[in-house]
Amino acid sequence: MYLSHSKTSHYEKCPFSYYLSYNFNLKCSANKGMEYGTINHNTLEDINNLIISGKDVEINRELIHCIVEKYVKEYDFDKDAIESITDNLLYYWDEIGSKIEVLESEYDFRLIKSNHILNGSIDLIYKQDDKIHILDYKTGEIDEEFSETYKNQLYTYALALKDDPKYKDSDFGNLQIYSINKRSTFNIELEEDKLTKRAEEIEKVAERILNNDFKERAYKGGEIPKTCSKCMYKFMCIPKNQI
Ligand code: SF4
Repeated sequence: MYLSHSKTSHYEKCPFSYYLSYNFNLKCSANKGMEYGTINHNTLEDINNLIISGKDVEINRELIHCIVEKYVKEYDFDKDAIESITDNLLYYWDEIGSKIEVLESEYDFRLIKSNHILNGSIDLIYKQDDKIHILDYKTGEIDEEFSETYKNQLYTYALALKDDPKYKDSDFGNLQIYSINKRSTFNIELEEDKLTKRAEEIEKVAERILNNDFKERAYKGGEIPKTCSKCMYKFMCIPKNQI
């Protein structure tokens, strides 16, 4: 069976919600936040690919603005929003992008294990101080609830690269989340025991999905978990007077 980080983390948050999303294809439509994320990711991918191509192009505000406008066309964003996206991406370029050696952008991986195949795409792999760094761009809020999910995401990527013939013998640096809105980097130390633990957790998720184990719900009565308050299926689990 095929797994990805988002599938694994969805199952870990709530197997019942996973079941509804993937077995009945009940998925929510894109919202403003997702569109915003897509524009930022696509623009950064273009910039990083320009660097990788080795073309002698100056990355400046005009160029970034031009790329943002290309992607924003499909959505309904006003002028102020376009300027704000451009400013944030220019800040990223000045403070980080221009100072690193970009190796890969949107790097696709496939990790074959005994009971699953893990697929995914890594936003950025770069080299600095002779170490390989894995970085994921985020546009949403980075609160405590999500920090564990982000750690798991980066550990999943590290597992994939440590199995990749191109990178398996590399010296890895920190795992990183770059928050485009907050203009800051969050570093996560790569620890071997946690890497092994994550591999075991993913294998366990695969096993439970293969065994059609979808009964467990995040909501067990009482206080409503954050996962549920944002869930599109809450009308199926939570009493009406508590939604
Ligand atoms: S409301 Fe909570 S328990 Fe119900 S499907 Fe959503 S996440 Fe799961």
